[in-house]
Order: sequence, then structure tokens, then C-alpha cells
Amino acid sequence: MKSITVLGSTGSIGQQTLEVADHLGMAVMALTAYKNNELLQEQAREFNPDTTILGSDPGGMDAIIDVAENSGADIIVTAIAGEAGLAPTLAALKTGKRVALANKEPLVCAGDLVMQTAREYNTEIIPVDSEHSAIFQCILGDKHKNIKKLILTASGGPFRNKTQAELRDITPEQALKHPNWTMGKKVTIDSATMMNKGLEIIEAMHLFSVTPDQIEVIIHPQSIIHSMVEFTDGSIVAQLSNPDMRMPIQYALTYPDRLPGLTRPLDLTALKGLTFEKPNPDTFPCLALAYKAANAGTEACATLNRVNENAVELFLNNEIPFTDIPVMIEKALSEF
Ligand code: MG
Repeated sequence: MKSITVLGSTGSIGQQTLEVADHLGMAVMALTAYKNNELLQEQAREFNPDTTILGSDPGGMDAIIDVAENSGADIIVTAIAGEAGLAPTLAALKTGKRVALANKEPLVCAGDLVMQTAREYNTEIIPVDSEHSAIFQCILGDKHKNIKKLILTASGGPFRNKTQAELRDITPEQALKHPNWTMGKKVTIDSATMMNKGLEIIEAMHLFSVTPDQIEVIIHPQSIIHSMVEFTDGSIVAQLSNPDMRMPIQYALTYPDRLPGLTRPLDLTALKGLTFEKPNPDTFPCLALAYKAANAGTEACATLNRVNENAVELFLNNEIPFTDIPVMIEKALSEF
């Protein structure tokens, strides 16, 4: 069985990765966290890694970059949240070992550099993001030129039927309640604004070498189809499962094999139905902003990402209303 290193082991994806590693009986070489030392030490007692690093310690971020490149693991799982994950991700890519990529921001803010580094070191990137894992699976064995478009599905989050006026008074507590998925705070707010899907458009553009106009976003509130690919002949291939991040995490660790996992099997006959709708641009202005940035290039995408990270933090601290998140981003993009 292969060994793993988990960068960002105390976050939601990191914790679920360790559940999967435990289930698969994988050895853990190194664990890193930013500031949750208590959980990191608990994980260290359970998984007995050679190295544990706390990023908030003096020199901690440099130590994380060093361990990303030198832990000796067969697979490096990059689950650090936000732009802080860029340097460790680039270091991981330089190992030439498989990178299970769960941190979308490096692709968003430096997609060309990330993909170029992977090519240079002949490193295999397996996406962990559920949509990109689905697309990865849907295109296996097919030629790139056969892809007509990628169809990213989105749950629409908790506010998909709300108007702009109703969104103004949303509190962080309301925005942190996602109907289908268990995720970290940042990505849960990004799901509520649909900026998460916006970042995923940019992520998909780089991972699968397609143009923004080859990516369509549709709302699928049940979160059973994790994304689809339409081919040139009009055939659409989809990947389905119960919504559970442990499924794409395990796939990124075992690919090209598939092993029994921790996700409850999908009972198709128990489903009440699968529905699809177009996202309302007035409810979700972040989506159009992401397309704008995707078309404008890497610098615009980096700006979009940085201002979004700031705005989400301000919102979580009750310093700006929910509806100011896209306003701040739009302002930064137009200045840019
Ligand atoms: Mg996703």
C-alpha cells in the first residue's frame, strides 16, 4: 500500500483524507497544519508520521514547503485552504510523485505555472474537488478533441431561491449551513455566493485545457451528479454518487484502481428525482465575475481570488454584508 503526506491535515478535507487513509491502511509520512496544534498532535498519535509541522510556528511555512518536497511519500495531498497553498503545492509538484490536489486556489491564482510545473516534472495531478474528479473520470480513455464542453454542477447552496434584497441580511451563521456537503468555512461561504463554482471554472479550464466558453455551470440541487462532460457527438457522460468528499479523496489515492470505500452506496430507486436549472445571475453575480476573470487571464484570476478571500473573511467577521462580497470583487476587477 502506498504512503501519503497530507498538507493541511486539520481542515475538513485533511481530516477526511486521514479517515480514508486509515480505511485503506496507508502509511502517513508527514502531516502539516496551520494553527490547530491540538488536532495535529492527536492525528500524530493516531497515524505516527515521521514529521508534523505547524505553519504558524516560526519558520513553519518554510518547513511545510520543505516537507512537501522531501517527505518521501508516494502521494502528496494538498489540502491547505486558500492562496497559502500555492508554494507548498509547487514544491509537491517538483517531487514527480502523484499530487492529489484539493486546494483549488493555486490553479486559480497561478494556473499556468502550476500546470507547467507538473509537465516539467512529469507529475500526475489527480483532482480531489468533487466536480473535477467527476470530469476526470468522465473523460478517461477519450480523446481531448472529443470534448465539446464540461458541465459543472452546483448545488446552488442555501440561497438559490433568494433575491438580492433578501441576501443583504444573511448572517455568517446562515451562510455556513450548507444543505448537502460538509466543508470548511471558506468554501461553504464560497458555495453560498457561488464563487466556489466560479473558482472551479478557472480550475477546470487549467486542469482540462479548455476555454471558459467550453464550461457551463448548471444548478443541480440534489448534488448526486458531480459533473458531466458533453462530447462532440452530443453524448453526455456523468458521474454519480451520494455527496461525500471521501469518495473523490479515495479515488485520487487509489486511481487507477477502485476499492470499496466509506461512502454510502447510491440507491437510485430511492431518489425523488434529479433536477437541473440555470443559475440566476442576479442571485449569483460572482459567477459572471469569474467568467470575466477567466477570459481576462491569470492576473485577473489572481485578483479575483485575493479579493474574494479578503471579502469572505470580512463577511465572517461581520464587517461587511453578504452582498458586498461580489461588489468588492467587481470593483477590484474593473480597477484591474
Ligand atoms: Mg467542488
